[in-house]
Parts: sequence; C-alpha cells; structure tokens
Amino acid sequence: MKIRSKTIEHLQLEALLRRLPPSHKKWSEVESHLLRHSAGHFGETTADVYLQYLPRNRYHVLQDLRLFDGIRHFQIDALIITTSFILIMEVKNLRGKLIFDLEHHQLFRTYQEKQDIFPDPFLQVEHQTLQLTRWLQTAQFPDIPIHSFILIANPNTTIKTHGRDTQQYKRRIIRPKLLFSEVEKLHSRSSPPVWDSDLIKLAAETLHKANTPFTASLLQRFELTPADLIKGIRCPKCEKFRMERKRAHWFCSSCGHKSEDAHLDTLRDYQLLMGDEISNPEFRAFSCLSSEKVARTLLSDHCPHNNGATRGRKYRLDLVK
Ligand SMILES: [Zn+2]
Repeated sequence: MKIRSKTIEHLQLEALLRRLPPSHKKWSEVESHLLRHSAGHFGETTADVYLQYLPRNRYHVLQDLRLFDGIRHFQIDALIITTSFILIMEVKNLRGKLIFDLEHHQLFRTYQEKQDIFPDPFLQVEHQTLQLTRWLQTAQFPDIPIHSFILIANPNTTIKTHGRDTQQYKRRIIRPKLLFSEVEKLHSRSSPPVWDSDLIKLAAETLHKANTPFTASLLQRFELTPADLIKGIRCPKCEKFRMERKRAHWFCSSCGHKSEDAHLDTLRDYQLLMGDEISNPEFRAFSCLSSEKVARTLLSDHCPHNNGATRGRKYRLDLVK
C-alpha cells in the first residue's frame, strides 16, 4: 500500500483554478472546493499512515473506492477485509468541536464561533453497508459481516455525543492512533472465519477492477464551459498566460522568461479539464498557437496518436500521473 498522492479530483480543481480568471463569478466557489478538498485529503493521508500498521497477513486494506451497486455509485474511504468481517471506514477531517446527536442523527460542528450541521456519518456508513452488501451479492461472494468506523482524523478535534447511545454508536467513533487496537478488538470479538485467504484475494482483486474513480467533467459540475477558461501557455516563472512561440522555444512577453517545454503544463491542464484526447485545432485554440505545423510537431513529440489521416487526427494525452 502506498500513501496516496493528490487525487485526480484535487489536480482537476487546481487546474480549473489556474485557468479561471480571478474576476470570474465562480472563482471563489472553486477555491473553497479546493480548500475543502485539501483538508479532506490531509485527513485521509493521516489515516493512511495508521492503516499501514495493520498486519498484512490478517488484514487486506483497500482505499478510495468508488463502486456501482446497480442503482447508484458509492464511495468508501477505506475498506479492511479479513477472514471474518469487512470493515468500512469513513474518514472525517473536521476541525473544531464535534457533537454527534445520536438520537436525532445529526452532526454539529462548532469552529471559529460558527456552527454547521452535517449529515450523520452513521447514516452514511449504514447506507454504504447496504450498498456494499448488494455489490458483494451481485458479484456472488458469500455473506460476511460488515462493520463500520467513523475515523476523526484531526487529533485536535473535540468529540462529544448527545442523546442516549442505544445502538452503541459511541465506540465506533475513533481516533487514528486507536485504529490498530480497535481493529484487533473487533477481530477478537468476531465469529469464526467465513472467508479464506483465497476469497479475500479474489474480493480485493474484483473490488479493485470495479473501482471507477470520479471522472465526470469538472466544468459541468460548476456549470462552466470551455469559453470560461483562460487560453494560452502559462509562463512557469511569472505565471501569466503570455508565452509566445519563437523558433524552438517559448518566450514570455511579460517577464522575458524562456522555456523549452511550457506547453506540457498546458496539455496537462487540457487533459485534466477537457479529456484525454486532443486534435491539432483543439490544441491551437487552447494554447493560442497559430501554426498548425508547430502544433503538429509538439503533439507528435509527446502524444501517441492513431495513424489515420492528418486531418481529424486525435492525440492521446498521458500527462496526469
Ligand atoms: Zn513570465
């Protein structure tokens, strides 16, 4: 298991913010999405660190799954598969003071003298449990108990509960440092194994294959069109979109910086925001480049393409890692 780098969605949001004029009415909305996303990502990476301490011979860990249950897509932050149970983990990275209202199924957060209400994470994981059960049945895996934890990633967050805890919710709210001991406790309390190691392996492979990371267009989500985006090649030094093509390099008409490969960032932005195929006219429009020949040379240097006629040729972008 490797500690995840930024998610695709995170990279897409960064590209969108770069390409949106700061005066655009959606700019601050995109920025606040990116900030929230960075916070969530930090929470998940903290959890990742503690997930690594689970012994590999007993626990199989999968992260960041997005699956389709036949009706809707659902997302799971982390999944631990064992011989006697599956554990769903929902990672929350909220700062401040959290109050779980166990009777009315609400989550209150007080932070910087402001109070917010969030959907109850327990209802969320209960629905995920239902969806995962459906998914496992469809894939014809034998029944296995499914448990869930709410992981509060930020160690400085205060946790309180409100109301009677008739369903024993409280003990399912945990801190990352307690992850190992809580999973071990669950293990010692569980019934005899129902899956063997081959089945765990098969389930992990099948889940991995069925994983469909979020790819819906970010532009669509923010109700933007390509016309809203800043076109041109961005200067790696002064960050203005003022690079012009000289003989065999790019020249910034704003700060005088020279670059050999400034177009690669532009192609990467294109891939993140528009998709992973580009034609010569599309590249020229996005980068404000007039020469068809220069565009063809740059694209052919970096992108494999179908060998069809030059006109209408699509180049494949593979710049997002
Ligand atoms: Zn510059």
